[in-house]
Amino acid sequence: MKHFDGKKYFNPYPATMKRDAKDILRWIQERKLQKWRNRKLISTVLPPKEVTNGKMLVTWIGHATLLLQFDGVNILTDPIWSKRCSPSQLIGPKRFVPPGIKFSNLPPIHAVIVSHNHYDHMDYRTLKRLHIKHDPYFFVPMGLKTWFDRQGIKKVSELDWWESSAFLGMRFHCAPSCHFSSRNITDRNKTLWASWVVEGTSGRFFFAGDTGYSPQFLEIGQRFAPIRLAAIPIGAYLPRWFMKPVHIDPKEALQIHIDLGAEQSIAIHFGTFRLTDDGQDDPPNLLKASLQEFSVSEEKFWILSHGETRDVAPVG
Ligand code: ZN
Ligand code: ZN
Repeated sequence: MKHFDGKKYFNPYPATMKRDAKDILRWIQERKLQKWRNRKLISTVLPPKEVTNGKMLVTWIGHATLLLQFDGVNILTDPIWSKRCSPSQLIGPKRFVPPGIKFSNLPPIHAVIVSHNHYDHMDYRTLKRLHIKHDPYFFVPMGLKTWFDRQGIKKVSELDWWESSAFLGMRFHCAPSCHFSSRNITDRNKTLWASWVVEGTSGRFFFAGDTGYSPQFLEIGQRFAPIRLAAIPIGAYLPRWFMKPVHIDPKEALQIHIDLGAEQSIAIHFGTFRLTDDGQDDPPNLLKASLQEFSVSEEKFWILSHGETRDVAPVG
């Protein structure tokens, strides 16, 4: 389905995307910021350098950043190690929990997936640090390669929805999400947003990035079944009247887990940066209640603590 008009990208489900400047103003005026507290890391176990023999390990670094290890390849999603997700390190949403693994303790990173250009997902500082220390291959949606070119970073694959690229025996598929892009007031939707499927011999990993609910996930599930692990956002959903088109709530996250037919899901995008009006523990609490309501076992949709690592069971 079409999602580009020659200048700007758009969601193919326009009914889900009605927000204008007036709405942004109303949200800012009516904001009800909840109190968040600084928290320490509970888990500090270091992941291995390499994972092979059909095993798949996932570690939650924080927010949308995961370390995925399988088939001998180490992958980071939307990496951010900075103290704030903002153009400035002095103002903007700050980190309430340290990154689950210290940057200096990371195993060799081979590939990095970026979902879109919002500050909490595409952190220039972290991307530059990764390039210098690990020289990974970057996978980005349409329009985002320009920044890498300017930095002299050459190992970049820029893909449109449903395109894919091979790397180290794996295939990186760019897939749809229901969101938007912007880093300032002039560049809205000039670059694409995406979800990703990483396909290895030991299974497929799905990364949703940021998204509202849409029928796109049923299609992704049909094209890529079975999905061994799906990373789905559960936070930054309040107030619903404003956030719903672009950020799912925990109940919709569970619906996407079901639509995808994922064997296992892991919650991301919560408890790290205070971006919207939800409280620090609201997303996991609401997810647990939704799991009960839908009679889905808590074991099927993991809520990890920062720095925690889990072993993902093989499919069937
Ligand atoms: Zn976003
Ligand atoms: Zn986000």
